Amino acid sequence: MKNLVTISGDWIKGLIRDFIATSPLNTMRNKTEDPAWDDALVGFASGADQIWQQYKEYVGPFHWTPWEVFSQHCPREPAGAEELTVISWILPQREAVRKANRRAKNYPSEEWARIRAYGEEFNAALRRHVADSLKQVGHAAIAPMLVPNWTIVNSARFSYASSWSERHAAHAAGLGTFGLCDGLITARGKAMRVGSVVAKISLKPTPRPYSTHRAYCLFFHNGTCGKCIDRCPVRAITEDGHDKEKCRQHLARAREYVKKTYSFEGYGCGLCQVGVPCEAGIPVKEAREALERGELPPSPPPLA
Ligand code: SF4
Ligand code: SF4
Repeated sequence: MKNLVTISGDWIKGLIRDFIATSPLNTMRNKTEDPAWDDALVGFASGADQIWQQYKEYVGPFHWTPWEVFSQHCPREPAGAEELTVISWILPQREAVRKANRRAKNYPSEEWARIRAYGEEFNAALRRHVADSLKQVGHAAIAPMLVPNWTIVNSARFSYASSWSERHAAHAAGLGTFGLCDGLITARGKAMRVGSVVAKISLKPTPRPYSTHRAYCLFFHNGTCGKCIDRCPVRAITEDGHDKEKCRQHLARAREYVKKTYSFEGYGCGLCQVGVPCEAGIPVKEAREALERGELPPSPPPLA
């Protein structure tokens, strides 16, 4: 591929924000055609970052490195890991959607279920748009979640996991840390959806402004909070963490509920993402204020 444009971080951020602002796919498909999303946080990680190898040990050997997924799907564009950048974005849930789901006690609000279905359709279109736009200006790119061999696998540690985790990519790209409920707590909170693309471009990685992968969760910071435990209608969250199997079973019931109650095909829950201190921001004051000041902690130890 012949490079026609030198890509900058601002070029990518503009591409994502323009698509949010102008794409007709950015809709909840409700009566008032409200937008699904109004903003994005964007971060970058190097394909050569050691964290991808750590994920192989922590998540499982089946979790692709950026180089593995890129090499499989862009065989005509040989590249070293250091020539690749992972572009990751967070789509924060809008206030109206969060407010509606805060009132939910067992199953998702209609607004939340619409975002899970149609907001995620937009997110898939955004992945395609970012990858296609880069290809059009001569830079090979692939969206790991959209490749045909992306799969969910059984995991001894996590009951199940996948060959590419958007939340782990976002963590690598400096966008957030994990909470007790497994959600990623970002500068705009945990109520969000996330996407990524791996591209043959060279961009300065976004620094990770945290020293552990759980730095933004109050429970891991000082043993307090645990509000997500009480929000879960099926007790899938305890002080020991998130029971993915219980959660999955509830999501299957939510699919029936959404169809019967709201008359469209969808699902979701996300009750643990709202009505909690990490809903729309970082609840750990010291971490939030350090991020606002632009301070970086010492390099984090390996995930364990
Ligand atoms: S609700 Fe509290 S314990 Fe649960 S993830 Fe958020 S900060 Fe952590
Ligand atoms: S853990 Fe699962 S079932 Fe429980 S509130 Fe969160 S999304 Fe819903």
